[in-house]
Amino acid sequence: MKRYTIKDLQKDFPNDEACLEWLVKYFFPNGIPCKNCDKVTKHHRVKSRPSYSCDICGHHVHPTANTIFHKSSTPLTLWFYAILLMTSTRAGISAKQLERELGVTYKTAWRMFHQIRKMMSDDKNLLSGEIEVDEAYVGGKGFNKRHEANFGEKPKQVVMGMVKRGGEAKVRHVISSGARVLLPQIQKNVEPNSRIYSDQLGAYRTLNKLGYKHSSVNHHEEYVNNNIHTQNLENLWSNLKRGITGVYRHVDSKYLQAYSNEYAFRYSHRNSQKAMFWTLMERVQKV
Ligand SMILES: [Zn+2]
Repeated sequence: MKRYTIKDLQKDFPNDEACLEWLVKYFFPNGIPCKNCDKVTKHHRVKSRPSYSCDICGHHVHPTANTIFHKSSTPLTLWFYAILLMTSTRAGISAKQLERELGVTYKTAWRMFHQIRKMMSDDKNLLSGEIEVDEAYVGGKGFNKRHEANFGEKPKQVVMGMVKRGGEAKVRHVISSGARVLLPQIQKNVEPNSRIYSDQLGAYRTLNKLGYKHSSVNHHEEYVNNNIHTQNLENLWSNLKRGITGVYRHVDSKYLQAYSNEYAFRYSHRNSQKAMFWTLMERVQKV
């Protein structure tokens, strides 16, 4: 992956002026259209505010409108730095770490953290090709694969992972690991006719009937049977697990989907030519 470093950031965005300029160029590559004049006009920067004003009629345009930066009193340079921090490590960083790194209050750091994380949801497109599917359990003592789960502990939250080999991942926080929950997730996220690799969980037994080509892994066999494995998904689980035990300590079930999206995002973009920083910068506009 192409790295975008703190040095790059300091060079590209030395001050809020530069950040604002970037937003203008990104949102208005062909010049700023004025609503009043009903055409692209020349604009000049308003000194006292993060906005631009039409040279002809004086109408104001705020490049931060509809972005995660909207109405925030935190400097854009810190926002950009936070985005870089959240994309530069494999395990991610917590709101607490953001607070320390940015020198803002915890409340501010927490808000920034959640805004940035929201941009890490997966694309809505369906996965196709060779897909590995598996579930994991979060809660109690942290993170478990089903076959390691310690029953008798507090009920765990279930996350279901779907990974395209050599491609992107989706993780869904689901209410149980029953067929009636898992199968619709596959139908919602994986194209029919795709090859699906899973373990021998009963829930997946009818996948063939649903129009998928299904192969299941026997975890008790000593050797991985040629192509039939869920190793890519195991890698994602291990990052997720490291995040839970090492970075966050505890994940409230309320945030488990956002949390899972963050790790799926990192996984999906791990080999991408574009640095994750820029992928997120292109999502700062709220949809
Ligand atoms: Zn105008």
